[in-house]
Amino acid sequence: MSIQLLDESTINKIAAGEVIERPASIVKELAENAIDADASVITIEIRDGGIAMIRVTDNGSGIAADEVPTAFLRHATSKIRTAEDIYHVQSLGFRGEALASIAAVARIELITKRRDALTGVRYTAEGGQQTALEEIGAPAGTTVIARDLFFNTPVRRGFLKAAVTETAHVAALAEELALSHPEVSIRFLANGQSRFHTSGNREVKDIIYQLYGREIATKLLPVEREEKGLSVHGFIGRPEISRGSRALEHYCINGRYIKSPLLSKAIEDGYGDRMMQHNFPFAVLFLTTKPEVVDVNVHPTKREVRFSDGQALYLFLRAAVEEALQRAELIRLSALSE
Ligand code: ADP
Ligand code: MG
Repeated sequence: MSIQLLDESTINKIAAGEVIERPASIVKELAENAIDADASVITIEIRDGGIAMIRVTDNGSGIAADEVPTAFLRHATSKIRTAEDIYHVQSLGFRGEALASIAAVARIELITKRRDALTGVRYTAEGGQQTALEEIGAPAGTTVIARDLFFNTPVRRGFLKAAVTETAHVAALAEELALSHPEVSIRFLANGQSRFHTSGNREVKDIIYQLYGREIATKLLPVEREEKGLSVHGFIGRPEISRGSRALEHYCINGRYIKSPLLSKAIEDGYGDRMMQHNFPFAVLFLTTKPEVVDVNVHPTKREVRFSDGQALYLFLRAAVEEALQRAELIRLSALSE
């Protein structure tokens, strides 16, 4: 074959593979866009694990009517202007890839209205091609609906798991969003049934109660530590509510929910002998660092990050966990000796 540039729609389909692995990836991108748009209320609805339909509604800033088609172009973003900005970016998104990627692999409908606009606008696209753009009455904010995931890429569709499994992935993602954004009221519905609804009152404990119930919510220890530009707050579980997997180790760094073997190890080492081998703690922790010590641009989904001084972060977090556990033990001891 001769060498030729790929056309735009092929490029988008290929690139979508990096961003959109399964329905939960779409929910993540849409909900993060809602948070970046300063929404205080977000509703996430799925049907058939999100394969048939995903709808994310927010009451955020909305998109200007004349910018809607641009939002669906690859590398179109309102969040950064230069590569330097990545190291100071406060928003969850900045790569300008999500809407283009979602539109490449699903049927899209977007309804949006800015607060100061007279009317809203409805945009539809199929396989990345715009099919409608019209004025419509709408409340302030944005709704994005993605239908028939991977309808045009049968091979990828074949990799999807059963709807119950995909629902579980979306539910886990929705829980992570709720935990990492206690300031936002998040509602999650699957097949018309409400799964959870957080209030947005900023109380992390209330969210833990909503998601995991009384059993866990009554066995929490507060964590609070600050040192040399690092700070952490949140809750860890008493050792007796340990799990067989890392599924309930939640932590955010600078407002971003991430997975990090280094931070997991720091938390687990903080428990030391208090936890049996192959058991993992419950934790919901919020870390704050100077933004430049964390590189979030490692992978399009930004779940993996790189730290410029991982060792300092490890020692700090381990100490914070140890301290929280020791404080609880002292309280217990002094209660016994009374
Ligand atoms: P990114 O989030 O990386 O900028 P996206 O493809 O996710 O890229 O979105 C492109 C642009 O569309 C965003 O930069 C933002 O300006 C706009 N946008 C997307 N979703 C929303 C939303 N829910 N509310 C307001 N603006 C949005
Ligand atoms: Mg985005």
